[in-house]
Formats: sequence, structure tokens, C-alpha cells
Amino acid sequence: MRPEEARGLSGLVFDLDDTLLEHGELTEVAYTSLFRLREAGLRLVACTGRPAGWAEVLVRQWPLDAAIAENGAVAFVKERRPFGAPRLRLVFPADLAAAGARRAELRALAEELVRRFPTVALADDNSARFTDVTLDIGEHCRAPAEDVAAMRAEASRRNVHTLASSVHLHLSFDPADKATGTLRLLEAAFGEDPTRARLTYAFVGDSGNDAAAFAAFTTTIGVANVRAYLPMLPVPPKYVTQAAMGRGFAELATTLVDLRVPPG
Ligand SMILES: [Mg+2]
Repeated sequence: MRPEEARGLSGLVFDLDDTLLEHGELTEVAYTSLFRLREAGLRLVACTGRPAGWAEVLVRQWPLDAAIAENGAVAFVKERRPFGAPRLRLVFPADLAAAGARRAELRALAEELVRRFPTVALADDNSARFTDVTLDIGEHCRAPAEDVAAMRAEASRRNVHTLASSVHLHLSFDPADKATGTLRLLEAAFGEDPTRARLTYAFVGDSGNDAAAFAAFTTTIGVANVRAYLPMLPVPPKYVTQAAMGRGFAELATTLVDLRVPPG
């Protein structure tokens, strides 16, 4: 990456599982790098397929400006106040009750799929979700690719959208993805023009549910483990780190911070 590209960035949007996190766990080197990125003047936005309830906690506690959950369907922003703790604001969806009402249908489909495909299970984080219902295909289970493809085809026949990450298969009636959700959040919360934001925000991820963001943003980075998913990404990330997962994220952070230091 050239220094001009790093210096032209306003923020970094990052995936959690197998990008910042290492098999679900946060390492010291990855967490520390968030503080270095913030000191380098970058707005930090987590963008994950994980539940809204998780994003709510992360925005409250971590050095983040905002978080997008459930693959773009839900977003929270942190609003700093003259005194006291920052406040958390739900940016979207506007109608949480409506979004939640249809989850029973998704739950029924998910349970049917679990009966038909013994290689998968209901994900253990569904209780914190607002909009989708999620199956475990790679977190505690090991679902073969053909089972995942068959489940996606069945969901599609029922007009249910699917997105797959390295760990989860998400079922949703919301067609949002990480690109639409991120651009929507950046405009609604920070007044960023969506066309310009594609140039001024970098995105880092690792797998299939990051595909839309890899295609939408100009500065895109995959951590090294993205290589396993390159055949199924229509647009590959522009850069790939040498290290995998959280260590790859830290490598990216060091690179960005160093490149943003003004010459001399
Ligand atoms: Mg991931």
C-alpha cells in the first residue's frame, strides 16, 4: 500500500470472526492494535455476522465508533457526551418489533435444516439476535461445503436470504449485506456520502460474508486465511496480510499506522 492511500483513509471497517478474533478469541496484540489505529485518526467500525446483542456490548466497551451486526441488518453508534458515559444509539432497523416478528418463521426453517443435515446445529448465539436465525457450520460443527450449498438452495426456495462466514450460515428476510449496511451506517451516523465512503473507508475481512464489502470498497484487505475463500469471492481483497486472523489484523494496523505518519 502506498502512503497516499493510507493517509487518505477516514476509517477502518473490520470483520470480527477469524479477522480480529482468533478462533473466537480476542488476543492482546489484536486488541491493542485498535488503540493504535484510533490514535492514528481512524474511525473504527466493527462489521460482523454476530448478534446485535454482542455489537451493543462491544460499542459500549471497546474503542469503537460504531458496530454493524447481523451482516448489515443492525447498527449501533457511540455518541460522546460533555459528561458521563457515551450513549449508545440504535441506528437501524427502525422497527425492531417488525424485524423480530418474522424470526419465528426463520427459526422453524433452521430447525428443519438441523433435522435434515446432522452436520449442523443451531448457533449458540441466537438468543442475542434481533433479525436473523443462524446455524453453526464451522464454529463447533464441521459442515461439508455440499451441505451448506444444499441448505442455501433450500432457503432460497423459501425466499430466505443466506450469508455464510467461516463459522455460520445466516438465515434472514433482510437482504442487507456488509456493504449496504456499512454505507447506510456511515451516512446515517456520520453524514458520509456513500460514494465517497467507498474510497475513504478501508475494509478488512476473511470469508464469504465479507464478499459484498470486498467488492464495494476500494481499499480492501484480507487476513492471510482469506486465501481459502478466494475461489468463492467474486472480487478478491486488494491486499492480503502475511499473518492470519488477529495477527494479520495487527500486521495491517502496524502498516496503516506507519504509513500515516507524515514524512520527516
Ligand atoms: Mg470472518
